[in-house]
Amino acid sequence: MYLSDLHTHTIASGHGTDCTVNDMAREASRRGLQVLGITDHGPATLTAGTPSYFRSLAVSPHRRFGITLLYGAECSILNNNGDLDLEDEILELMDYCIVSFHRPVFLPKSEKENTQAAVRALHHPGVKILGHMDDTRYRLDYFSLLSEAREAGVVPEINEASLRPDGYRGDTTANCMEILKCCRRLELPVILSSDSHGTDRIGDFTHAEAMVHNALFPEGLILNNLLPEIIARFGASFPRSEDICRSRNHRKPDDAAEGMLSSL
Ligand SMILES: [Zn+2]
Ligand SMILES: [Zn+2]
Repeated sequence: MYLSDLHTHTIASGHGTDCTVNDMAREASRRGLQVLGITDHGPATLTAGTPSYFRSLAVSPHRRFGITLLYGAECSILNNNGDLDLEDEILELMDYCIVSFHRPVFLPKSEKENTQAAVRALHHPGVKILGHMDDTRYRLDYFSLLSEAREAGVVPEINEASLRPDGYRGDTTANCMEILKCCRRLELPVILSSDSHGTDRIGDFTHAEAMVHNALFPEGLILNNLLPEIIARFGASFPRSEDICRSRNHRKPDDAAEGMLSSL
């Protein structure tokens, strides 16, 4: 079983669910997860999270129902410059950011242009995860993209929603295989994510897990159960709330991770 899921959506994403952060945390706890990441869509996708919503997450509790919550955002890549749909001022408040291509915000272009846009986006300091880069509609030079990701400390996800038979990104199997092949060559870790809109599929990695196992991908390069590393990589703005940190003076990421893990 994998103990963390860092790509999930609430009602704030504007589609697919009426679940709140509390609903998500309760269900994640019930299913035995230890870390849950909330990553609602940025404002470029229709009726999605507003800047004020993301601001409010910065003062939300990081412990609910006995599990740790990380507050992120799934930003859309807006253009060839890799600009994102949340201001830096907001992204600085977030624990981490996933960057993804979404239609019609960024319509698929040539392999070169798609890759260039994603590379520029991943170099934003708040970005930590490349979201569903398996999408068959966006051709990418995976080795170039993932080499840059490695340099920037960014990891790709293996997205459960893409791999499900009812996924709408085409048959992403071959692209996932290619991503895993490149990651193995680069010794770049991956993270399995459900991309669950609402509670239904939180922590469900049925197809993603089968994919990494079929690819004989090293377990040591799958981040989900490496909880200290999860906090160190994706909880960069910790600590912010008194319920998880012992001292207001602990401000460095390493200390923050330590304080956070003491409550795991
Ligand atoms: Zn997405
Ligand atoms: Zn998503």
